[in-house]
Amino acid sequence: MGSHVVCNVQKPHVVCIPYPAQGHINPMLKVAKLLHAKGFHVTFVNTIYNHKRLLRSRGPNALDGLPSFQFEAIPDGLPETEVDATQDIPTLCESTMKNCLTPFKELLRQINARKDVPPISCIVSDGVMSFTLDAAEELGLPEVLFWTPSASGVMAYLHFYLFIEKGLFPFEDESCLTNEHLDTSIDWIPSMNNLKLKDIPTFIRTTNPNDIMVNILVHETDQSKRASAIILNTFDDLDHDIIQAMQSILPPVYSIGPLHLLVNREIEEGTETERLGSNLWREETECLDWLDTKAQNSVVYVNFGSITVMTAKQLVEFAWGLATSRKEFLWVIRPDLVAGEEAVIPTEFLTETEGRRMLLSWCPQEKVLSHPAVGGFLTHNGWNSTLESISAGVPMVCWPFFAEQQTNAKYCCDEWGVGMEIGEDVKREEVEAVVRELMDGEKGKKLREKAEEWRRLAEKATEHPCGSSVVNFKMVVDKILIGG
Ligand code: UDP
Repeated sequence: MGSHVVCNVQKPHVVCIPYPAQGHINPMLKVAKLLHAKGFHVTFVNTIYNHKRLLRSRGPNALDGLPSFQFEAIPDGLPETEVDATQDIPTLCESTMKNCLTPFKELLRQINARKDVPPISCIVSDGVMSFTLDAAEELGLPEVLFWTPSASGVMAYLHFYLFIEKGLFPFEDESCLTNEHLDTSIDWIPSMNNLKLKDIPTFIRTTNPNDIMVNILVHETDQSKRASAIILNTFDDLDHDIIQAMQSILPPVYSIGPLHLLVNREIEEGTETERLGSNLWREETECLDWLDTKAQNSVVYVNFGSITVMTAKQLVEFAWGLATSRKEFLWVIRPDLVAGEEAVIPTEFLTETEGRRMLLSWCPQEKVLSHPAVGGFLTHNGWNSTLESISAGVPMVCWPFFAEQQTNAKYCCDEWGVGMEIGEDVKREEVEAVVRELMDGEKGKKLREKAEEWRRLAEKATEHPCGSSVVNFKMVVDKILIGG
């Protein structure tokens, strides 16, 4: 046995397993990198479907890993399909819950049978993958659950069972999906004020009493009580009251974000660990050169994340709204952004906006948002995007699509003062007016100032040695993952 192996055997070994969607894999990879930097041997578990996608987007060697950072894959339980599309979330949730425990346990068994890696000593799993707790308990290991949505979103999910008890779920009939019913006040979730039903994660908006997502979320939030600890990608100043309120419902809750800022501080650029990536689409980095040629705060960045689908009509309304705003813009249009068809951009729009726009299908978003040329973000308010925007000091136009994005938009607009909302039924005139206001108006100025304040606080939370997220991360490692 070589000395390298002996050293390896002494390391703590964490298995990190994200829920298999982009907005979950990205932050989990960051947790894994931070643990690696703290001296852990890391095994990162993707689904086979995503493993193949990553090889396509990042190249055939992308998942070779490092001696102490290895990638593994298990099946997600769904029939094999063409690789390169976003999987249906409810179907995938149901399938992972039902089918992944057996292959996961088998993988852990195989890893523990190996002589060249240290025995597994702890698990960090996504909050909606609570089946992993069974495996951890069987092996007597501590397990930390990582809930990747916002604290407000998770808090709402934790109370889904009360929506059922109070008769607010399921909705009585279809008309409740659109009428004043959505304005019903929700004033009984601890630490969350001034909410209406329309601000609650959208899964609740259904007349189906057997809705898969509601049932899964009630089950998964309940299972969270079995974890050794919970981690959230936020920082204390941003979500202080909610995190406090969660402490009495859940095992110890630690805010350890913004994770990308922690990673930027901890892991040197250009190192092998830094280069490990998780984008399921190929990044088009030329947009950074384009941004380099633009004035400070002059560009509107438009991106609706990895799951949002819109109609062709909505796409056209956004296009014309952006065109008539006369602003410069960088717009990411995923190949599967438009439901059921290819996104067709009107030729007149292309001619009209020639020279002041860049269109692409996937970008290095964190770098784009922290580029000085970006002055505003038209977003769907996925939690990662929202936090990345806040911590880059970029104000937002919010067009939430589904899940807890509505809750995030509400917090951006009414609690944190960094966003303004745009109607669900998007109209070009509104896009034009809101984009102009964001970039040049008085309101936009105020939002930018507020975003800048949050940016500073996010920086402070990730500063060594006393930043709240630095301290919390260290506690998770020392008290739970190593000490647990
Ligand atoms: N992202 C990216 N490039 C893109 C679009 C998205 O790198 O062109 C990243 C983004 O930085 C974020 C994640 O993909 O980390 C999207 O997660 P989010 O929670 O914002 O939304 P979701 O995709 O889950 O709806």
